[in-house]
Amino acid sequence: VQQEEPANCDGRARRVLLFPLPFQGHINPMLQLADVLHGRGLAVTILHTGFNALDPALHPEFTFVPVPDGIPADVAASGSIISIILAMNAAMEASGAVRDVLASVLADDGQPPAACLFIDANLLAVQKAAAALGLPTLVLRTGSAACFSCFLAYPMLHENGYLPPKEAELYTPVKQLPPLRVRDLFLSSSNNHEMVRKVLARATETVRNSSGLVINTFDALETAELERIRGELDVAVVLAAGPLHMLSARSTGSTLLSEDRSCIEWLDAQATGSVLYVSFGSLASMDAGELSEVAWGLANSGQPFLWVVRRDLVRGSQHGSDLPEGFDRAVEGRGKVIRWAPQQEVLAHPAVGGFWTHNGWNSTLESIAQGLPMICRPQFADQMMNTRYVEAAWGIGFELEGELERGKIEKAIRKLMEEKQGEVMREKAKELKEKVVSCLGSGGSSLLAVDKLIDHILSLHG
Ligand code: UDP
Repeated sequence: VQQEEPANCDGRARRVLLFPLPFQGHINPMLQLADVLHGRGLAVTILHTGFNALDPALHPEFTFVPVPDGIPADVAASGSIISIILAMNAAMEASGAVRDVLASVLADDGQPPAACLFIDANLLAVQKAAAALGLPTLVLRTGSAACFSCFLAYPMLHENGYLPPKEAELYTPVKQLPPLRVRDLFLSSSNNHEMVRKVLARATETVRNSSGLVINTFDALETAELERIRGELDVAVVLAAGPLHMLSARSTGSTLLSEDRSCIEWLDAQATGSVLYVSFGSLASMDAGELSEVAWGLANSGQPFLWVVRRDLVRGSQHGSDLPEGFDRAVEGRGKVIRWAPQQEVLAHPAVGGFWTHNGWNSTLESIAQGLPMICRPQFADQMMNTRYVEAAWGIGFELEGELERGKIEKAIRKLMEEKQGEVMREKAKELKEKVVSCLGSGGSSLLAVDKLIDHILSLHG
């Protein structure tokens, strides 16, 4: 993205504030959006929590302002995202700290006037604090349009008896939200259903209280889902401005873990389209037995692979996710294991031919943007839903369901990388990539959405 003429109104430059939810999959798209807005001449201030704090040194072009999050240490250590979201909002509402920080940011005369605040949908407390100060908010949804449409449909899903989910009905189609089945619904497998319901209702409220919604998707990918949202929401703008990582000038720079770049050199030495990239994102985990099955499945498949094994990938491990004995020797020269990857660069590398993913929305969209077919292994949140779309709506991958077992894994890898079925998925993935290219080109839907967004921001008083 080129730095353009400053976006201003009446000759005055404007500033936007952005506040991501402090998790990798939410931070990345928010900072990509910041980058896009900065590229259009807006000054950018990022608010961030102490929990998973951002490193201002990585983004000298932005101003950073820390906000006390008040997350109790035991909740932070629990790793439960839902508990962290609720605790953070409760603490922020109780302390008034966000309001104080926002008030001092708005009073800073050294900066252009703030037009609005972009927030994650999970930050209702921040939306309320901004509203009390007369500062308009816009929400960035970091999941798919289908996912937010499902948030909106949650009361209907209860009224119609789909939720809470019943074991015998997991494969029942949700006829109001094709192609979803009960098991694909947001966190339907969770046992803390009431907490989920509360979090989703609060996220919907945050959006309804805001002046606009930006979704990290593109029109051609989720046409019907976007239409559904536009039909149900009464906010000034609902814009599909993704994939944001393709619009943003930087591909890296906001990761909480340090990237192992040695994998790029390793990929350079591999044949085109030969490598399976394996990563389960920043939060998903497995037990030691599953790790061992994945390791031997990869080894026995005979395919080259690049596998991200985060230090905390194995639940409760004292040793930092150790691989089974003999594995290194078995895959020497053909497999590489790293702790954290420069993922967007990896997926864009010509040697990579497929992605075994947990289907977090960012990973799914990053894969689509590179035309790569997927093996899907969803665990929680919107991952089941994303998997369903990959398989049944777009035909660019398939789910590896049930117990993780080495023989099954080996077969799935061969299916994706060597067999006819995988070839068909690869073709479809390439067709979808063309659509990504069009939405980002001149007159493309996502570029037009960014234009509209800038107009909207400038129409807000500041
Ligand atoms: N990611 C990365 N390196 C890795 C694994 C993941 O940079 O080794 C990035 C990935 O590109 C994506 C984000 O982390 O932007 C993960 O977000 P996603 O929504 O896919 O999953 P989550 O981590 O939220 O479950």
